[in-house]
Amino acid sequence: MADAQREQVDVVVVGAGPSGLAAAVEAAAGGLRVVLLEQSARVGGAYWRHSPDHLDDLAEVRLHHDWTTFRRLLARLRAVDVRTEHTVWGLERLELGFRVRALRGEVERAPVVLDATSVVVATGTHDRVAPFPGWTLPGVMGAGGGQALLKGSLVAPGSRVALAGTGPLLLVVADGLLRSGVEVVAVAESGHPTAYGLHPSSWSGLASRTQEAAAYVATLAQHRVPYLAGRTIRAAHGADRVERVTFATRRGRTREYDVDALLVSHGFTPQLELLLQVEPETRVDGDGSLVVVVDDRQRTSVPGVLATGEVTGVGGASLAILEGYVAGRALSDRAVDPAVLRRIDVHRRFARTMHAVHVTRDTWARDLPDDELVCRCEEVTAGAVRAACRELGVDDVRGAKLMTRAGMGLCQGRMCGRAVTDLVAVTTGREPDRADAVRAAGRLPAVPVPLSALAREARTGGDA
Ligand SMILES: Cc1cc2nc3c(=O)[nH]c(=O)nc-3n(C[C@H](O)[C@H](O)[C@H](O)COP(=O)(O)OP(=O)(O)OC[C@H]3O[C@@H](n4cnc5c(N)ncnc54)[C@H](O)[C@@H]3O)c2cc1C
Repeated sequence: MADAQREQVDVVVVGAGPSGLAAAVEAAAGGLRVVLLEQSARVGGAYWRHSPDHLDDLAEVRLHHDWTTFRRLLARLRAVDVRTEHTVWGLERLELGFRVRALRGEVERAPVVLDATSVVVATGTHDRVAPFPGWTLPGVMGAGGGQALLKGSLVAPGSRVALAGTGPLLLVVADGLLRSGVEVVAVAESGHPTAYGLHPSSWSGLASRTQEAAAYVATLAQHRVPYLAGRTIRAAHGADRVERVTFATRRGRTREYDVDALLVSHGFTPQLELLLQVEPETRVDGDGSLVVVVDDRQRTSVPGVLATGEVTGVGGASLAILEGYVAGRALSDRAVDPAVLRRIDVHRRFARTMHAVHVTRDTWARDLPDDELVCRCEEVTAGAVRAACRELGVDDVRGAKLMTRAGMGLCQGRMCGRAVTDLVAVTTGREPDRADAVRAAGRLPAVPVPLSALAREARTGGDA
């Protein structure tokens, strides 16, 4: 394992999804020395998740949206020092600028240290989890994970698949599965998408999305897939893996489907752990997620730290790209096209409506049986968290972690943190606030780091 090498650059961009790519190419076009760090083996993020190497570009075009935008960004990426398989775990303020700490390689885990004048954090989101009976059965997975299997490995998540949860992603994934020849038996959307019509402020952003949604609905209709608005997932059943699912209306009318896979999406949780290390101003967004506050140039309250894409609020790929463009221009002191700022505003208004329409209600936290898991890593049940609230005075996520170990496992609460927060709130009647969300999201290091890597860095003069 190599010792940490320290380099000085103008800008480090963390995350090579749509927003990080856009920020990096714009900053480099302004003459700055930019290093783009990405934990995956390839750039593209959640939106442009690559297919296996043997596939040609035409196949990628069929599998992905906006592939031409991606090709354009790739062409401009030559001006950027791109380092894939670099996982950033630390962000620290220096007297002048910032120190970024990363591990290189999946196996090697070699320490890398970069000092930068400015940092753009574009680390995106992970799936939000809302447990239900049977959610840990094999064959039940996140909708994003199911799509990733299909796009990344060309493997279908099942042969009879149902989708449940809420949000536009359900339609996107159902469409992708149907186009790949997978049987989709039903899509249960807990919201009522007709409610978009009740939010006139978002209508300007609705036109292009309506077209896209209409195309998805047409695909569903063509394959006679029922789209069940106002239905939630009540349970997944099966002995060794999921065999059947039950969907229910709010009034309790149920319907069952035989399946061999269930894909679930309850929205996303922005990945703020790196940003929180420098303590920027944050807020709770319309979907209940903690997000970082930025100004109209994507600057956070910490001078020199910018944030783009879903860490500033979940709003889709087009918004993420535009925010990246603005950040890159701002860093290199170049003017931002006012039309871009207007488009960002339209996207953000649409995102606010999307959050209002696609709500994951906390009824799951009331209904979840005591013996069902909420934290998979540490195998903590809903009953254990409830008992900690009632008998040990726990009234926040941190207390639940200390008393039950929920969130202490490998994922460090990334997956269960929001669910445990909701469960504690429903059990105690105490509404979580922003400080709770900060405590739930903050973790240092941002990802697990082997002690050997810390030791190596210290030996070469680092102070990690
Ligand atoms: C299956 C799926 C389908 C979707 N379909 C659509 C769609 O049709 N239309 C639409 O508008 N949106 C869609 N979205 C949402 C869209 O993908 C996001 O809006 C967009 O990708 C956000 O871009 P981003 O750059 O903010 O984050 P991401 O795309 O999530 O990129 C973040 C990047 O940061 C990297 N990263 C994170 N942490 C670290 C770290 N510590 N060190 C180094 N790298 C790190 C990640 O590996 C990732 O590559 C979809 C999402 C999913 C999951």
